[in-house]
Amino acid sequence: MPCGRPNCACANDPNRRHGPYYQLSWKEHGHTVSRRLSLEEARLYQEWIANRRQLDSLLVQMKALSREAGQWMLGHLMGEGSRTEDPTGPSQQVGPIPATKVPGYPGQILIAP
Ligand SMILES: [Zn+2]
Repeated sequence: MPCGRPNCACANDPNRRHGPYYQLSWKEHGHTVSRRLSLEEARLYQEWIANRRQLDSLLVQMKALSREAGQWMLGHLMGEGSRTEDPTGPSQQVGPIPATKVPGYPGQILIAP
């Protein structure tokens, strides 16, 4: 892969190619799309991707906390004598809420030698 500088020897001679190269790839409509990055762009993207992953991770933790808080509050309210169950009706049990899967951020940076 040529480095992209038009006057560089690698532009026309495959034997004079050099690295490292930085490439950002992601999925778009089921296809992998990639774009070459300069070192500076790659550093920025690495930071942005790390931020995004941290955000995703925080959201997962917030959702889990929110579920716990909801269950605790319901249990707390029910425990204060406001329970109005129909003894003849079917018992409604709330099972554990399945964990939410958050897909990993697809963007990643490949460094080719
Ligand atoms: Zn070059």
